[in-house]
Amino acid sequence: MLDIAAISTGYGRDAVLHDVSLSVGDGEIVTLIGANGAGKSTLAKSVSGLLGLMGGEIRFETTRIDRLDTAARLARGIAHVPEGRQVFAGMTVAENLALGAGPGPSQLDFVCELFPVLRQRMTALAGNFSGGQQQMLAIARGLMSRPKLIILDEPSLGLSPLLVGEIFALIEGLRARGISVLLAEQNARAALAIADRGYVIENGRVTLTGPAAALLHSPDIAARYLGVGVATATSAAQTRAMAERLRRHAWGEG
Ligand code: ATP
Repeated sequence: MLDIAAISTGYGRDAVLHDVSLSVGDGEIVTLIGANGAGKSTLAKSVSGLLGLMGGEIRFETTRIDRLDTAARLARGIAHVPEGRQVFAGMTVAENLALGAGPGPSQLDFVCELFPVLRQRMTALAGNFSGGQQQMLAIARGLMSRPKLIILDEPSLGLSPLLVGEIFALIEGLRARGISVLLAEQNARAALAIADRGYVIENGRVTLTGPAAALLHSPDIAARYLGVGVATATSAAQTRAMAERLRRHAWGEG
C-alpha cells in the first residue's frame, strides 16, 4: 500500500533522514521505533506531505505521491495525526471533528461507531477533556476523512499505562476495520505488542526491521528500547491482555 524507497529529507539543507526505505501493507500496523530525535516525526511528515523530499520516492497504491500536496494525499487516503494531541481546546468535539472531514459524505457515523463515547459529547469543549480523551479525539478527527492509511505520531505520549492500553486497543480496532496504520512510537514495547512489523530508526537511518514479535524478543531491542525509558509501558503480555480487554469493551463485545 505505502512504499517508501530510499528517501532523504530534512530541514533547510541538512538531511535528517538518510536513504530510508519502508513499506506498509494493506491492513497492517507498522511501527517506527526510535529515541527522541531519531527522525520518526520527520518520516511521518514526509509521508503526509508536510515535508518535501531531497531524494528517493514515495508511492501509495503504486502511484507516486511525493510531489503531491497534503490535501491531495489526504484525498487519496492518507491521514496524519501529528504528535502532541493538537485538538482545539476552545472548540467543541463536533467542531474539532469537522476540521478533519474530507470533501465526500460525512463520516461522522463511522467515527462515532469507532468512538462511541464521542457521540454523547459532541457539544463538550475539547479543552475539558483529559489527555487520553484528547488523544482519542485527535485520532477520531484523523479518521473523519475515512483514510486507508493513518499515520499516528506518538499517540501514547504522556498517557498513563491504562490509557496507553486503551489507545492501543483502539489502534488494533482500526486494523480490524481494514485501516492500515503507521505508528511512530517511543513506547517500543507497547507498539511492538500490537504491530505486525517494525522498523528501528536511529540517527535518521533504518537500522533494523522485522516482524514485531521478533523485534520484541531481540536482545538488541530489549537492551536499547525496552529497558530504561519505558516506565509508562507494562510488559508486552500485560499490554496485550489489557488491550484485548479494552478492545472488547470499546467495541461492545461484552
Ligand atoms: P521525537 O520523539 O522527539 O518527536 P523524532 O524521532 O520524531 O523524535 P524528529 O522530530 O523527526 O525526531 O527529529 C529528527 C531531527 O530533526 C532532530 O535532530 C530534530 O532536531 C530535527 N528537527 C525536527 N524538526 C525540525 C525543524 N522544524 N527544523 C529543524 N530541525 C528539525
